[in-house]
Amino acid sequence: MVRRPGLSKSRLTAFEQCPKRLWLQIHRPDLAETDERAEARFAAGHEVGAVACSLVPQGVMIEAEPDLAAALDRTRELIATAPDRPLFEAAFEHDGVLVRCDILEPDGQGGYAMAEVKSSTAAKPYHIADVATQIWVARGAGVAVSAAVVRHIDNRFVLGRQGEYRGLFADADVLAEAEPIARDRGRVVAAARRCLAGPQPDIAPGAQCSDPFACEFASHCGSVLPKGPDWPVTILPRGGGRAWLDQGIEDLLAVDPKGLPNATQRRIHHATRTGQPFHDIEAARIAMAGWAFPRTWLDFETIGFAVPRWIGTRPYQNLPFQFSAHVEDADGEVAHHEFLSLDGADPRRACAEALLAAVPTAGAIIAYSASFERGVIRDLAQVFPDLSAPLAAMAERVVDLLPVARETWYHRDQRGSWSIKAVLPTIAPDLNYSNLEVGDGQAAQGAYLEATAKDTDPARRAQIASALSAYCARDTWAMIAVARRLAGLS
Ligand code: SF4
Repeated sequence: MVRRPGLSKSRLTAFEQCPKRLWLQIHRPDLAETDERAEARFAAGHEVGAVACSLVPQGVMIEAEPDLAAALDRTRELIATAPDRPLFEAAFEHDGVLVRCDILEPDGQGGYAMAEVKSSTAAKPYHIADVATQIWVARGAGVAVSAAVVRHIDNRFVLGRQGEYRGLFADADVLAEAEPIARDRGRVVAAARRCLAGPQPDIAPGAQCSDPFACEFASHCGSVLPKGPDWPVTILPRGGGRAWLDQGIEDLLAVDPKGLPNATQRRIHHATRTGQPFHDIEAARIAMAGWAFPRTWLDFETIGFAVPRWIGTRPYQNLPFQFSAHVEDADGEVAHHEFLSLDGADPRRACAEALLAAVPTAGAIIAYSASFERGVIRDLAQVFPDLSAPLAAMAERVVDLLPVARETWYHRDQRGSWSIKAVLPTIAPDLNYSNLEVGDGQAAQGAYLEATAKDTDPARRAQIASALSAYCARDTWAMIAVARRLAGLS
C-alpha cells in the first residue's frame, strides 16, 4: 500500500497559499531556499509560547518526545484522566491530519477552549484558518471545542515588574469566523491530497508568492520564467508600474513618458532611457542651506522584543542599543562618536547620556528617513525626565536627508529606490556594504541578539562589536558622502 504523506496545519496553510508550494515541500524539498532568519523567528516564537503557557495555571505540557505517536497517546490519556487540567501542545489526528494545539483550557462543561498563541499584535486571516484546522481535527478526534481565540501580543502592555507578564496577551475571539472554515476543511484536505498525488501543479509566480509568507521556492519558480525586460515598469515606486502592466506593458523603456503622472516617474524614465543621472545641484544646495554647522550625522540601531525584557518597555518598542554620530564643522572637519551596548542590560539610559555627550547643543542633526531617529530621541526624552529638556530640544533639530535625495538625485541603478543602500553605490561605490560582516539593519539586530546571548564567548562578542561599529559608522559616513555629492562638492 502506498503511504499517504501526512498533513499538518502548516502544510494546509502552504496548500492554501499555493498548491505548488505544498507539492514542492513534499516532493522536492531540496529546491527550497534556506531561510537564515528562521532560527531567530523560531526562538522568538518559542519564547512567546512559553510565556503564554506560564500564564495558565495548572497546565500540563505534552512533550513531542519520543515521537508524535507518544504525544497523541499522552493527550488521549490526559483528556480521560485529568479533564480539569489545561493542556499545552495537545496532539490530535483526524483523517491523516496532525495538529498540536498551543493551549486547551477545560470549559467546565466537558469541552475545551482553544487558544492559538501568536507573536503578532493582531489576529490575521491565516491564523483563523490555522484555528479552523485545529478545531476540525480536534473535533474529529472526539474533543468538544466550545471556544477559540487567537492569543496575540497586546502592544499596549508595559513591563512593570521583572517576569510579570500578565496583560502581555490579548484574545481575539475567532470561533464564529473559524466555524465555516472548519466545516470546509474536509474538502480542502481532499484537494491537498489530490494535488500531492498528481504531477507538479503548473502555477506561475504571482502575488501569492509573498502572501501570507515569502515562499521558499521563489528562486526555483522564478528561474524557469522567461527573462523579463532589463528595466521593468515595476521599478516605478509606490506601485506606479501597475497601471502599465494592466495595459500589457512590462518594459519601462516602452512607456510613453507623456503618460507618466508625476515628475519623479518622468525622471526615473528619463534617467533609465538615457543612462544620465538626474541631478539638481542647485535644489540640493537650497534644501540643505539651512542645516547649521556643526552638523551631526546620526544613525541608531535598535532592537525590539515581542516579550519585553526591560522594565518600562513595550512589546516591539524600538530600543536603541547603538548609535553612530559624525560631527562635521563648517571647515569640513569630521569627528566620530559612537555608542554600543552589548551587555544585555537596558541600554537606554547609557544611550541617552552618550547622545547628550556626543551631539553638540547647536547645529543640525541629520538622519536618513529622520522620523525614526526623531522618534527614538523623543522616546528617550519621555523615559528620563531629568534629560527630557535637552533630548526634546535635540529631537527638534533633526532634519531629513532622504527627501533631499529623492527630489534632487536619481541614477538608474537605484531601480526606483532611494534607500541609502540603493543611492550610495551610485554616488560612492567604494563605500558599499558588501565587505562588512553586518550589512543591514536586520543583520545588526541578529548580531545584537547573538552578542547578548549568555553562551556567546567574549572573543565572538568582541568580533560582533567591531562589525556593528563598522556598519553603523558606514551608515553615517555614507550620509556625508551622499550630501556632498548632492551639493556638487565631490
Ligand atoms: S514561488 Fe510562488 S508559484 Fe512557486 S511554489 Fe511558491 S508560491 Fe507557488
